[in-house]
Formats: sequence, C-alpha cells, structure tokens
Amino acid sequence: MDRNKYLYINTIGCQMNVYDSDRIATLLHPLGYRRTDTPGRADLVVVNTCAIREKAEQKAFSFLGRLAELKRKRPEMIIAVGGCVAQQEGRHILTRAPCLDLVFGTGAIGRLPRMVARVESRRCRIVDVETGAEIDEFEYPQGGAGEGAVSRFVTIMQGCDNFCTYCVVPYVRGREMSRRPEEIVQEIEGLVRSGVREVTLLGQNVNSYGKKEGWCAFSELLARINAVPGLARIRFTTSHPKDLSEDLMTAFRDLDKLCNHIHLPVQSGSDAVLDRMNRRYTRAAYLSKVERLRRCRPDIAITSDIIVGFPGEGRADFEATLDLIRTVEYDSLFAFKYSDRPNAPAARFSDAVSEAEKSDRLRKVLDLQESYTLRKHRALIGTTACVLVDGPSKRQEQGETGAGIQWSGRAADNKIVNFTALKEDLSPPPDLTGRQVRVDIEDAFLHSLGGKMIVREPSRVKGEKIYAA
Ligand code: SF4
Repeated sequence: MDRNKYLYINTIGCQMNVYDSDRIATLLHPLGYRRTDTPGRADLVVVNTCAIREKAEQKAFSFLGRLAELKRKRPEMIIAVGGCVAQQEGRHILTRAPCLDLVFGTGAIGRLPRMVARVESRRCRIVDVETGAEIDEFEYPQGGAGEGAVSRFVTIMQGCDNFCTYCVVPYVRGREMSRRPEEIVQEIEGLVRSGVREVTLLGQNVNSYGKKEGWCAFSELLARINAVPGLARIRFTTSHPKDLSEDLMTAFRDLDKLCNHIHLPVQSGSDAVLDRMNRRYTRAAYLSKVERLRRCRPDIAITSDIIVGFPGEGRADFEATLDLIRTVEYDSLFAFKYSDRPNAPAARFSDAVSEAEKSDRLRKVLDLQESYTLRKHRALIGTTACVLVDGPSKRQEQGETGAGIQWSGRAADNKIVNFTALKEDLSPPPDLTGRQVRVDIEDAFLHSLGGKMIVREPSRVKGEKIYAA
C-alpha cells in the first residue's frame, strides 16, 4: 500500500450521490487514500455533482472555482469531478473548469482506482463517461471507508425508465437496472456484521425494483431484508406514486423493521401539470394511495417533493397544489422552483413562469407546510419516541454540555430527536451510539424534537435490546 494520502469528497445532491461517495472512498482506500474534512489538506479532491437543478450545478462550479485557487498553490493536487454533471457534460467540462485532471461519469466509478493511479503516475487528464453493458456498475466493495456508521445506504437499483419531462436522470444515469436480491441481502448482512443497525435502500424508483429482470417484487425484497438478524431498521427512497403497490402498502403493516415513513413525491396537485410532467398518475389516484397507506399504517409519516413554477403552471394549478398539501398534511416537504435542465424535454416547453412568481409560490408552499410540520411536532410532546442514536449531538461535540449528555438520533418516522441522557443515579450513561432508546419528547421545533431519557434497565422489544426512558 502507498503512503497515506488524503481524499476530500464534496457530495452535492441526492442520497444516491452520498452512497456513490462512500463507494468512491472505499474503492480508493487500497491506493492509500483516507478521507479528510479539509479540502486544503487533500491530495485528491472529488466533486460528486448533481444535475437535477440549476442551483446544484452552480454550486459544483463555484466549488471548482475555489479548488482552482488551491491548485495554484499546490499544483500536485488532483481534482476529479464525477456524478450527473460530469456524465452530462463529458469533456466540455474541461473547458469550463481547466483545473480538472479527471472527469468520470456515473457508470465509471468502478474504474476510478485505475484512472486515479494513471493520473498520479503520468499526470495526464482523463475523461471517462462511457456507459454500456460491460461497465461494472454493480461492483459494490464493502468495508473500509465509513466503518462504524450506524446507518448506511444500500443501492438496490440504478437508472430510471420514467422520463419525467423535467428530469435528466434517465439521460445521465441510464436505464433502470436492479441488483440481484441475494447480492443485496449479502451486502446488508456484511454491514450488520460491521455494526450497522439501519439501512436505507436506494433507487430512483424502488417501487419498480426487479420488474425488468424478473427478480422479485420490492415488497418481497423487503421481507427478505426484514429477516436479516441484528438489523434494526429498514428505510427506502424514492417511491414513484404510480408504482406504489398494495403489497408494499401492506408491508408497512406487516414488517416490524420497516420504518413508518415514506417519501412519496407528488410534484404538483394539478392534473394538467402532472400530465405535462409525464408523471402518469392523477391527483385522485395519488390521494387514494395516501389514504390506503394510512389505513395500513395509521402512524406513517409522509413526506414529498413539490416543484413550483413548472412551464404552464397557472394560478389555478398552483392553488390545486396548495389544496393537495392541505388535504394530505405532510410531515415535511422539499419544495423547489422549477429550472430548465439542458436535455430535459420541459426545457423546450412554452409558457414559462416568471422568477418572481416562482419565488412567491415557493414561499407560499413553504409557509403552509411549516404550519403542518410544527403542528405535528407539537402533537408529539408528552409521547415517547424510539430513537436510533447516531451519536453525540453537534452541540455536544462543540462543547455545549449543559445538564447530562446531548445525543442525537432519528425516530422511526424519520424525525430528528436531540436528547439528554442520565442514568437513574444521575451519572452519564455509556456510549449510546447505535443503540435504540426510548426518549420522552418535551420540545418541538421546526426541524427536530427535543427530549430526555432516564436510563433504566434495558428491556427487550421485538427481540431488540431497548434502553427505556
Ligand atoms: S422517476 Fe422521474 S423524477 Fe424520478 S428519476 Fe425517474 S425521470 Fe427523474
């Protein structure tokens, strides 16, 4: 193995990119690269880009601008760019960012170690945005970087066949492709052995998992993962509403490790806009699935994505979106202003909505949602949440220690819970990282809940050792 070298990864975009960044770190580990939080200290900087929104792309280029400055001082630094912008732009990106040594596409991650080794020895520039059957897209090394994590992402499929008109994913990530169920289960068993307690299954549309290949239904995959001993929780994202099956809804009722949270992106409450987006469901069909989900799992938390200002979205269409938000009462929402993406069909649509109008609509959606989020959080005061502890809270790490130790984790419905913990004898409890604990909820904020935990004797709930509050 070479001497220790430092790798800084800037991850922009979705969980798929977070997962890819972990994979990149794992793959580069044998070349001697260890992750650092400081770009100025890095021998290799990887910018893992996102092309889904203009803002995300701008963020990548502005970071590359800062890296160019660093490289002027340390010319030996290698700068690589990957992800969806790299796939989309290919070698053109070298003109926009001349500081780059390496451009690699979404299907080239498996070949990254070879490319980095070549750049290191020959100081050449490489562009690899090849896609095709021969590409080792599903080479998923385990271990190495990220050891000790409580939660991990596991990609179960890549690409997308849906072609929503605003989205570039099918063009930059290619057609949908699912991994074999036994491979996925094996990966999860390995993660559990290394201490992971929770997995989030990733795919652009997990609801159509395995359909093309004829592996098994997504609900069956979940049942197999539910049987992995030692695993405490299963999550997944993202779910296309048109493919949300009855089997998957009942899985929320039947599988004890499947968390009571679903991210179900609606995008708009107007049938006319949904049609222009090529989402292939109606508002009524979406609402009916929400109702059936809540019948299967009454405590399910539902979150969603909304795009405001899609071309042709009139006042009435926008009002229909607000009305849908009022009807569903989401737990939280991600809302975005529509922006043209090169190569996406909607970029050629007429009837653009003005930027001022988009900003106004975005504010209205966020204000409306905030009232529901706060109301839902406040309703949890006085209840007890089962929290999987990620580790000491940021405040604790920053030395703000008040009474007891501050911990942070997530409840099963994905809400962030920060809490203090003391044993009955008023001494701090042992390291709670990776444990499931019961926390009395005492405070509610917009983005988190606060509470207290008094550590008593651990009890067993569903075979799981739980530290009771
Ligand atoms: S389902 Fe639509 S929005 Fe999601 S990745 Fe596929 S094309 Fe993009």
